[in-house]
Amino acid sequence: MMRLPSLHSRGTHTSVGIKVAKFGGSSLADAAQFRKVQAIVQADPERRYVACSAPGKRTAVQDDSKITDLLYLCAEHVRLDVPVDDVFGRIADRYLTIVADLRVQLDLEPQLTHIKAKIEAGAGPDYAASRGEYLNGIILAALLGYQFVDAAEMIFFDATGQLDAERTQATVAARLANVDRAVIPGFYGVLPDGAIKTFSRGGSDITGAIVARGVAADVYENWTDVSGMLMADPRVVTNPRPIDVVSYRELRELAYMGASVLHDEAVFPARQAGIPIHIRNTNDSEATGTLIVAESQPVAHKGTITGIAGRKDFTVIALEKAMMNAERGFGRRVLEVLETNDISFEHMPTSIDTLSLVIADSQLEGKLPKVLEEIRLACRPDSIDVYPNMALIATVGRGMAYTPGMAAKLCGALARDGINIRMIDQGSSELNIIVGVEASNFDPSVRAIYRAFVE
Ligand code: ASP
Repeated sequence: MMRLPSLHSRGTHTSVGIKVAKFGGSSLADAAQFRKVQAIVQADPERRYVACSAPGKRTAVQDDSKITDLLYLCAEHVRLDVPVDDVFGRIADRYLTIVADLRVQLDLEPQLTHIKAKIEAGAGPDYAASRGEYLNGIILAALLGYQFVDAAEMIFFDATGQLDAERTQATVAARLANVDRAVIPGFYGVLPDGAIKTFSRGGSDITGAIVARGVAADVYENWTDVSGMLMADPRVVTNPRPIDVVSYRELRELAYMGASVLHDEAVFPARQAGIPIHIRNTNDSEATGTLIVAESQPVAHKGTITGIAGRKDFTVIALEKAMMNAERGFGRRVLEVLETNDISFEHMPTSIDTLSLVIADSQLEGKLPKVLEEIRLACRPDSIDVYPNMALIATVGRGMAYTPGMAAKLCGALARDGINIRMIDQGSSELNIIVGVEASNFDPSVRAIYRAFVE
């Protein structure tokens, strides 16, 4: 007897490919965008599970609103005892127009009436916002001829509002095991009492990743409105090159420093399961996009970088004390002050008699004078200097590891342009080199580094 391959096995010989495709709000903003999504899904039979966002802003409509924002507005109106008819009317119109333009056989009116009544009865912002993806999921499922599977059946939060990953993953796997093709609305799940809870904004990415892990997908495609990640911010570097392949770890470094096309938490489920994430462009489906893979992938070019990212909002607190090197507990006391003030730090470069703290401004807000005073009392330094307006720039690349001369090249590039480096820190994985410069030198620094490594 011939055995049929298990759809959910990932063995090399038996598995039938499974792709999970998540489409963002701009990919589903109107009927024309829905048609593009339909063409993409139908172009590849392996795209069996689709996660969706709510309709985003339409490019053709000036000052358009995202449906999610309008739904939050409805909940806010109810809280303030203001009628929601106008705002909800706009939401209903958007959906009904999409359905009419697509000519799908679907009567959304009863759903819309029910949702409006629940919002008016005080169902709250999470319920209201979640209906954006819920309704979009119903339309997309009808258009594709896929089964609609509600996220509320399989994505669970615990009583504290944390995702219950274990129960969620087990339920997704079981629920979808016998569903050949499905659309799953993004962004939300349920609390133990059955109430709807959403992820943070942009959270449909997380739903897509959870589904990808649940069905043991071969790839998690994240379809958006850009052709993947770029090596640098296009507002700073003209026409930066796209990043074809990036590892999860590099992505984390770049995203933390501000370069992101994907919700932070979306990486985790995919990474756990070793599923590559492919960022692709719904408006340019031929573009290569960016593939996010595990570290183990071989590096094509040693000595090259993957990307540059940075943030401008840091303060440096520089301490100096003669014989600091010999003093026991100096560092501990400094860090204790930060801890008791609930402040996390980014970097702590030291030399023999100096120690600097690099801290994001958001962490320090309103706390600086108190922190300085406490450090003074706890550590009795000879001097404390504060340098506001610092920028950190991370040059990231798995191809940089074990390659001599990378730091020299980077520092040389900055020196040639007359930029003073205030701090330099190489991660122990040799995956990144972070430099601190004055915020006013941010753009020229990024351009100098890009020129040195890429052009
Ligand atoms: N629609 C939600 C938002 O605007 C979630 C998402 O699109 O991922 O944040």
